[in-house]
Amino acid sequence: MIKKQILFSLLLGSAAMSFPVMAQTSQNTNTEPSALQKRFKSHIVYLASEELGGRVPMTAGDTLTVEYIKKQFSEIPGVELLGKDGLQEFAFAGLREFIPDSTYMRLNGKKLKQGKDFQVSPYFQSGKLDGDILYAGELQKINTDSIQAEGKILLIDATTSPELPYEDLLKEMGKKAEKVKASGIIWVTPELNYPETDKVLNRRLALIQVSPKVAEQLKNGVKADIKVRIEHGDRKKTKSNNVVARIKAEGNLNPNNDVVIIGAHHDHIGQQITKKDTVYLYGADDNASGVATLIEMARYFAARRDQLKKDIVLVAFGAEERGLQGSRYFAENPLVPAETIKAMFNFDMTGRLTAKTLHIRGVGTFAEAFPTLAAAPNVNWLNLNLIMSGTEPTDYASFYRKGIPTLSFSSGRSKDFHSHTDLESKINYPGMEMIFDYVTPVISRYVFEPGRMTFIQQ
Ligand SMILES: [Zn+2]
Repeated sequence: MIKKQILFSLLLGSAAMSFPVMAQTSQNTNTEPSALQKRFKSHIVYLASEELGGRVPMTAGDTLTVEYIKKQFSEIPGVELLGKDGLQEFAFAGLREFIPDSTYMRLNGKKLKQGKDFQVSPYFQSGKLDGDILYAGELQKINTDSIQAEGKILLIDATTSPELPYEDLLKEMGKKAEKVKASGIIWVTPELNYPETDKVLNRRLALIQVSPKVAEQLKNGVKADIKVRIEHGDRKKTKSNNVVARIKAEGNLNPNNDVVIIGAHHDHIGQQITKKDTVYLYGADDNASGVATLIEMARYFAARRDQLKKDIVLVAFGAEERGLQGSRYFAENPLVPAETIKAMFNFDMTGRLTAKTLHIRGVGTFAEAFPTLAAAPNVNWLNLNLIMSGTEPTDYASFYRKGIPTLSFSSGRSKDFHSHTDLESKINYPGMEMIFDYVTPVISRYVFEPGRMTFIQQ
């Protein structure tokens, strides 16, 4: 205990020197929710409501989401809307749709439930897969020289592999499957999550996620019948909007018009259609929580805009769940000169803080990340899980790919990730406030001071 107290004061001491603004503390977690927590809640209650239907591009829910964020921004003094009255429209090629009747997996004649027992990546090019399954064992131990797997579907166990970032794991599986000329991969994972494989996995390879329970039966040689059909033909043009606003530094405090971007994606997955029924996914944590954080960051920095030495551009991205579409479009067409963008901070799932652990991605994208994060006043003693990669599947990757230093903050994947159980009632509001209190001084370092971020290409 004593040791802890000494460390605590040391941290605060160094923080006070480095940071002009002290974080607001939020230690009264068992009492009346703070004003900030109440505002978080009102945003999430609406964004994750039935009315918005899971916030999918090309639905009324998407439009209502965008309108809500725009209204929130426009009501904050000091925040101006950019783009067309706050909106930046973009179009992209939509995913192929699953045909429930022809996407199925049977074990011993018994039909499995899509979304619960198995899930298929919609990027699979040929859209058609039948085949025998070969259990290839644990990912790290697969010897591609010793297995005959041409035309077969490889069942790969990655649950006991050392923890690899999502993309690296998929790439590793893809590499091995291609080497042995397999037709597809069955990936054993407790999280079935509509796998995002665009630009990670060869589209020639089918990817099927199965639950460990299903995998167990497959390993035991239960007769499996897999049929995947993903509709061919023209992909529909899909449209959505980013919501974009700005807080401008006053007077001549920002002579070069430097910009720091704060962002969060506003879309979610909507519904999952299975053979039997349709379930709605409201996405309270993913990512109504991040949008709530973004709106309140806007309020926080707008109230202190007289201290700004860089402009802040706020962006709520559309269509993240469809392959980072909105952020990619914005990074290509940023509404401010690209060379003025100095840094990007992203929030994706900030509503389920567990064991006080804040996950910070992108630490390897710029040289000053470690000292900045270590020196930020950590008044709530958050554990920091620092992840180097700049390319994990969330919007910060679109900026990393443009050579912009970037961090993405998250309370991590809960067991309700991409499930109909990602509900507002499960949001940890005191935890959201703790994240907010930790991150605001980190961003302050760059917008109130001439703090540098030096990009590192990984
Ligand atoms: Zn998300």
